[in-house]
Amino acid sequence: MWRATVFTLFPDMFPGPLGVSLAGEALARGLWSIAAHDIRAQGLGRHRAVDDTPAGGGPGMVIRADVLAAALDAGLEAGDARPRLLLSPRGAALTQARARSLSAGAGIVLVCGRFEGVDERVIAARGLEEISIGDYVLSGGEIAAMVVLDACVRLLPGVMGKEASGFEESFESGLLEYPHFTRPREWEGREIPEILLSGDHGRIKAWREEEALRITRERRPDLIAGLPAKGRKTS
Ligand code: SAH
Repeated sequence: MWRATVFTLFPDMFPGPLGVSLAGEALARGLWSIAAHDIRAQGLGRHRAVDDTPAGGGPGMVIRADVLAAALDAGLEAGDARPRLLLSPRGAALTQARARSLSAGAGIVLVCGRFEGVDERVIAARGLEEISIGDYVLSGGEIAAMVVLDACVRLLPGVMGKEASGFEESFESGLLEYPHFTRPREWEGREIPEILLSGDHGRIKAWREEEALRITRERRPDLIAGLPAKGRKTS
C-alpha cells in the first residue's frame, strides 16, 4: 500500500477532498493510506507553542525547528526511506513526471508550512526537499499537499478505471491533450469533427496527435521547445 504521512497544524483538513471520488474510493479500497500528524502535539508549554518571531525582525511568525523536528521524529519510524517533501513556494515545481516517480515509490511524507514558513535549519537537519505547486503564495501547505497527493494517487495501479488512461493525458507525452467530444452529435449548431465519427482508428489517432501539437504550439510553446526533435516537427 502506498503510504502518505502529513505533518500539519490542521490535521482535520485531511483527507478532506481526497476522501471522495477517485482518491476517496481508492482510499476506501486500501490502495493508499493517509496519516495526518498534528505538529502542535509537540508544541511547547501550556499553550503548545509551535512558532516564534523571526530572528532579525520582520513580520509574521516562523515554525520552530525544535518543534517540527520533534513532530517528525515522533511520527516517523527510523529507516523510513520515503521522500520527505516540504511544501514551499521556493521548491522545485511539481511536474507530471515527478508525480509519476513519486507514485512509483513506497509513498511520501509531506510537511505543511504555515505563517512565514519553517526555521531553515530543520530543512537540512531532517532531509526535507522543498516542493512547490506553482508561482503564487498560499496561506498554508495543506492545500498544496493535497494537490501533490491527488496527482500521485490517481497514478497508483488500480486507481483509474482504465489503466492506460493516465498515459494519454496532458504532459505525459510532453504535449497538452487533444480536444474531447461526446454526445450529442450536434449541439447548439456545433458538430463533432467528422473524423471522430469515421471509425477509422488510424486517422483518428493521427488527427489527435496533430491537434495535441497544434494546441501545445499555440498555448505552451515552452513545452514544444523541451521535446525531442521528433515531436517538434511542424506538420
Ligand atoms: N514566506 C513564504 C511564504 C509562506 S506561505 C515565502 O515568501 O516563500 C505559508 C506556507 O504555505 C508555506 O510555508 C508553504 O508550506 C505553503 N505554500 C505557500 N505557497 C505555496 C506554493 N506555491 N507551493 C507549495 N506550498 C506553498
